[in-house]
Amino acid sequence: MVDSTDLLDLMAEIMDPEIPVINIVELGIVRGIDDSTPPNIIITPTYVGCPATDMISEMIREKLDAAGHGNIGIKNQLSPAWTTDWITKEAHEKLRIYGIDPPGDHTPSCPRCGSTNTKLISEFGSTPCKALHACKDCLEPFDRFKCH
Ligand SMILES: [Zn+2]
Repeated sequence: MVDSTDLLDLMAEIMDPEIPVINIVELGIVRGIDDSTPPNIIITPTYVGCPATDMISEMIREKLDAAGHGNIGIKNQLSPAWTTDWITKEAHEKLRIYGIDPPGDHTPSCPRCGSTNTKLISEFGSTPCKALHACKDCLEPFDRFKCH
């Protein structure tokens, strides 16, 4: 019998392919483990059509196989849809350190100098889930996680 806590710990070793400082549990992609036998890892993609979703499934598969859990499945759960509210508070701090303004209804603020004197450059940053802003004080461009 596989312990679901162990499985979640294993999942927490997988970093988001786009944001290598945050793991997929902190990001809210891994929703839990179901109670079927053998169990399935339940995942909700950050949004439908996100190219990282397929990559994340593959990374989970590899991780499970490498740990000898080849019998454990991966189940996509599209409802309820993933929202940025599922990103943990600890992960918000990591995002900021990494240089991404975390999601939330705060005024966009520069993750480097903290200034709120910023402008939106593009609705699409390095990935479609982020918008590109620039700081008018330190002139650094930065990504901001879009809320949804
Ligand atoms: Zn700045």
